[in-house]
Amino acid sequence: MSSKLEQLCIEKGLRMTGQRRVIAQVLSDSKDHPDVELVYKRAADLDDTISISTVYRTVRMFEENGILERHDFGDGRARYEEVSEEHHDHLINVETGQVIEFTNADIEELQRIIAEKLGFDLIDHRLELYGRPIKGRESDIPDGTSEAVVNINQTSLKHKDI
Ligand SMILES: [Zn+2]
Repeated sequence: MSSKLEQLCIEKGLRMTGQRRVIAQVLSDSKDHPDVELVYKRAADLDDTISISTVYRTVRMFEENGILERHDFGDGRARYEEVSEEHHDHLINVETGQVIEFTNADIEELQRIIAEKLGFDLIDHRLELYGRPIKGRESDIPDGTSEAVVNINQTSLKHKDI
């Protein structure tokens, strides 16, 4: 079965080799925000003929075609995530590197209003919050969770499995 990312590649008319399919699969299956090295590690587990330079080239090609989003979470490593219709923002724990995905309707609305006041239709935005855990305050996010998804409009907490 082909991955969602592979489907997008085909729609964009990209030629899919076996190695590109494996890399697309790895990225589609990743629920976190891997850097190229981690993508390479996961891809090499499935196909040990894949080289890191192939992963670099392929990831760049996916990015240039708008099917992969690149993030910079302040640690100097480019990290990747499949482009999805559901928008979310990120909070980065600067002590552990943990990335927490969240959505908040008020923030979305506020940004739209600001753009409009400046005479623009908002078509996209990026928001990264950097923080360290408040001492003595228990986090809603259990220990050992490397990535989490939080909708702070609701109190529910959904985990992205790793
Ligand atoms: Zn994300």
